Amino acid sequence: MANKVRPVVQMAVAWSPYPEFTHGTEGGLPLLPVGWAPKPLLATVRQLKTLGLRPGGHDPVAVLYGYSRTGGAQWFANLYLISTAKPMLAMTPAKWRALAKANLARRCCPECGRDRGYIIAPSLGMCFPCVEDSENTDPATPSEVAA
Ligand SMILES: [Zn+2]
Repeated sequence: MANKVRPVVQMAVAWSPYPEFTHGTEGGLPLLPVGWAPKPLLATVRQLKTLGLRPGGHDPVAVLYGYSRTGGAQWFANLYLISTAKPMLAMTPAKWRALAKANLARRCCPECGRDRGYIIAPSLGMCFPCVEDSENTDPATPSEVAA
């Protein structure tokens, strides 16, 4: 796999009043190789999250790129201005209730209606005892799994 050679271009950027060196553009945004992005000014979504921030509706101002260590595949990540990021939304009691309700719905078997204490596999659509019962068509050998 031959890595594309990208020319170094000096261009106007959102994070600096002066033209900065980039590797051209990707999707209309300045493209920066790993190590070129100014860490105090730009961050990826995950880096914002570790800072307790979120993009807050702002569009990315640059694209970071690098190569996978194992496969050599190229990867891209959007970079956001830390100065325009907003604090992460706090969990309210209503949000916790909604989350608990959604998790309960994932644990309840639609066949027997019981809270199984684990996530019902969507590929099965029912809990393991119900799968056992539906597969066991011979009435002489009842299911060993306690319901
Ligand atoms: Zn069930």
